[in-house]
Amino acid sequence: MPDDLPLPPAALRLRLDTAALASNWRALDALSGRARAGAAIKADCYGLGMSAALPTLAAAGCQDWFVAHWQEAAAAVRHVPAAQVSMLHGPMTDAEAVYARALGVRPVLNSLEQVRRWLRAGGGACELMVDTGMSRLGLPLGDILDPAIAKLEIETCMSHLASADEDSGQNAAQLGRFRDVMRAVPARRYSFANSAGIALGPDYHCDLTRPGLALYGGVPRGELAGKIAQVAYPEAAVIQVRQLAAGDSVGYNATFTADRAMRVGVIAIGYADGYLRCWSGRGYVLWHGQRLPVLGRVSMDMTIVDLTAAENCGEGDWLALEYTLPEAAAASGLSQYELLTLLGRRFARCQ
Ligand SMILES: *Cc1c(COP(=O)(O)O)cnc(C)c1O
Repeated sequence: MPDDLPLPPAALRLRLDTAALASNWRALDALSGRARAGAAIKADCYGLGMSAALPTLAAAGCQDWFVAHWQEAAAAVRHVPAAQVSMLHGPMTDAEAVYARALGVRPVLNSLEQVRRWLRAGGGACELMVDTGMSRLGLPLGDILDPAIAKLEIETCMSHLASADEDSGQNAAQLGRFRDVMRAVPARRYSFANSAGIALGPDYHCDLTRPGLALYGGVPRGELAGKIAQVAYPEAAVIQVRQLAAGDSVGYNATFTADRAMRVGVIAIGYADGYLRCWSGRGYVLWHGQRLPVLGRVSMDMTIVDLTAAENCGEGDWLALEYTLPEAAAASGLSQYELLTLLGRRFARCQ
């Protein structure tokens, strides 16, 4: 096949509202008070794509970036300075510590093992994650006074909240433990809050906040409602219009049967794209403000929608999925995080 054969246009696109992304970062930076807001950009900016999101966030003023994998660190440094990038999982081997130094990104050290590994590789500016009650990554509290810690050049000492999206006593308990950490571990700056943690107030802000979800349009706590705008707009083309007669059934396992003559459209999105089967008979798409219901089961590559209220909608037209994250999470039972990170590779990511 000739390499220069032009590809027909995609039938599925994910529109990124870069103005909304920038305004969400500015809102979260302002809500962070005296702290600066950084950005969690792991999982390719929660599925939205680094190549558009990073330049937008950098132009808005963001200077601190958090990734989870080396592959993501390597991708991030194509858009932002390496010295602004922190790698959350930390070095698993000596070779990874050497890699971090060569790339110029800061590893987040999560255990005494990783601390020693970093020092062995030659050390330099790094981050330290302390576990204050999530039992996920991070140095156990009992290890913070280890002499190896005193040898580190810690740029950011951080911890992560487990229940910031709830009014849980765990938040204050973790804050109390993090205050002990701040007294015991010297660092240039301290960082504690994710998106939801920013809404918990100034006690939680420290020097640097690390929002992810809310940058991309998620609303993890009521306090953020009205301050965060939708960023991701999945849209699918109608690839066939069909006329149904009363009694015709729709899709796998015939879970919907028409009770009248109706017009339906087949759109080019399915569970392989992250539009999971939980949307069967439950999701909506939008056509000039009209909500059109999903009929029957979502298939791997296709979904069937009711075009009764969209007389002029035909093959080749685009329908937007109803995908405002808090409402979509309530309707689907998926988390706002899952709704974003599920969105697959077949979308043309555009602005
Ligand atoms: C993912 C992550 C964040 C961002 O969390 P959100 O809830 O998406 O704002 C912040 N800090 C760490 C350590 C993370 O892993």
